[in-house]
Amino acid sequence: MMSWIAELKAILGDEDVIADPERLLAYECDGLSLHKHLPSAVIFPESAEEVARAVKVLARHRVPFLARGAGTGLSGGAVAVQGGVIFELARMNRILAIDYENQLAVVEPGVINLALTRAVAEAGYFYAPDPSSQMACTLGGNVAENAGGPHCLKYGMTGHHVLGLEVVLPDGTIVMLGGHGADAVGYDLLGLFIGSEGTFGIATKITVRLMRQPQAVKTLLADFLSVEDASRAVSAIIAAGILPSALEMMDRATIEAVEASVYAAGLPTDAAAVLIIEVDGLEASVVYEVERVVEICRAHGARQVVVARDEAERARLWAGRKGAFGALGRISPDLMVQDAVIPRSKLPEVLPEIYRIAARYGLRMANVFHAGDGNLHPNICFDGRDPEEVERVKAACREIMELCVRVGGALTGEHGIGLDKIAYMPLVFTEDDLEAMARVRAVFDPEGLCNPGKVLPVRRCRAF
Ligand SMILES: Cc1cc2nc3c(=O)[nH]c(=O)nc-3n(C[C@H](O)[C@H](O)[C@H](O)COP(=O)(O)OP(=O)(O)OC[C@H]3O[C@@H](n4cnc5c(N)ncnc54)[C@H](O)[C@@H]3O)c2cc1C
Repeated sequence: MMSWIAELKAILGDEDVIADPERLLAYECDGLSLHKHLPSAVIFPESAEEVARAVKVLARHRVPFLARGAGTGLSGGAVAVQGGVIFELARMNRILAIDYENQLAVVEPGVINLALTRAVAEAGYFYAPDPSSQMACTLGGNVAENAGGPHCLKYGMTGHHVLGLEVVLPDGTIVMLGGHGADAVGYDLLGLFIGSEGTFGIATKITVRLMRQPQAVKTLLADFLSVEDASRAVSAIIAAGILPSALEMMDRATIEAVEASVYAAGLPTDAAAVLIIEVDGLEASVVYEVERVVEICRAHGARQVVVARDEAERARLWAGRKGAFGALGRISPDLMVQDAVIPRSKLPEVLPEIYRIAARYGLRMANVFHAGDGNLHPNICFDGRDPEEVERVKAACREIMELCVRVGGALTGEHGIGLDKIAYMPLVFTEDDLEAMARVRAVFDPEGLCNPGKVLPVRRCRAF
């Protein structure tokens, strides 16, 4: 009998199946370097048909498999925790159709998020969900994680912008989910698939909504001498009935890292925190909202509020914000980017507590996050070669998660559960809740081969 590797080579060609341990090293982790597992092989399919044929081979041989986009995930989602085959989808990167009349685009899953916005910008359109990793991450990875981004405060997450999917199910069948008009007909399997973290199959075609660029955009930078004041300003802006398109916070440790990097944006390094606030819409409403935001920030202790004068200044602020993780990555060998959501009003109480937790474990921490959504990203700088330090990082992360859950928060805002947060699932879900999720998963993947070891804790030798 032919081995499964030989069968994959017969489908894809020798060059597009790698199993040499040295070349596999590049696929041992995603953006979260804490979890490392070597896959048995990596393959590079170029079409849905190749994906489906390869999945059928692996299903027959009972070999686990998973999809990978750009590997920028921050929860260990694209890691082959049980070995098996990674489908690297970078070559499925064609924009198949752009339909301005119906304001949609059809793309392959390996299309890079920012490439889609660039492709439609000249015609006055954009693709709204904009993860800070948008220059690298793929739309397939965004669908799997239901990715967010700074502008999701106003425009909604990936799930609000995906109209239809072509999916290869874990037995190799190709199905269409959604895509038949605005209202879901039959069961909403599209909604179920988005955010399923690659455990229900592999998306091979994605239909997304395109948006018209707003008439006017203004970006403000407000700086504060305390994180609590900045947090109160966040709640006050939203409570005043203003919905900025983005409302982001960066603390001093993050500002210092950014200003020492190529992303330097002229941020004040003596501030305790800055807010980047963007408002967009019709010219007249933007003028009014800018005035109100400036007033509110001043009333909550802002030392200075400046409005970016032109597109170049605005782009510089966003480069600083979106490059913040990269800038933090420069100052230590490893970075643990955490992700949790809390009610926005709890920011002034929770942020100081998070700093106390980091101090108690002797860890260097920086916070840069989607403040308007209450979506926290505590970043812990550490050295993964020091096992004792790694244990402190894990203990601090657990305390942070417990704190967020205690104030009514959720375990993830956008990065997913993946491998990293499985142990926290029982903090929010009962055994019955988890059992219901495991049953849904088993409908899509009865053999448990599709991205196993993610999302749900394993008990009694099976996913929960
Ligand atoms: C610097 C930095 C900033 C970030 N900022 C944000 C942010 O603002 N908002 C945010 O939401 N995230 C952010 N992230 C996290 C990450 O970029 C997102 O989760 C992104 O959606 C992952 O896309 P990817 O192509 O890299 O997916 P990968 O990391 O390759 O995979 C992620 C998951 O998706 C699955 N998957 C990939 N492709 C498919 C497919 N075609 N079908 C089915 N499953 C698939 C994988 O199996 C895996 O479980 C950031 C990451 C970094 C490194």
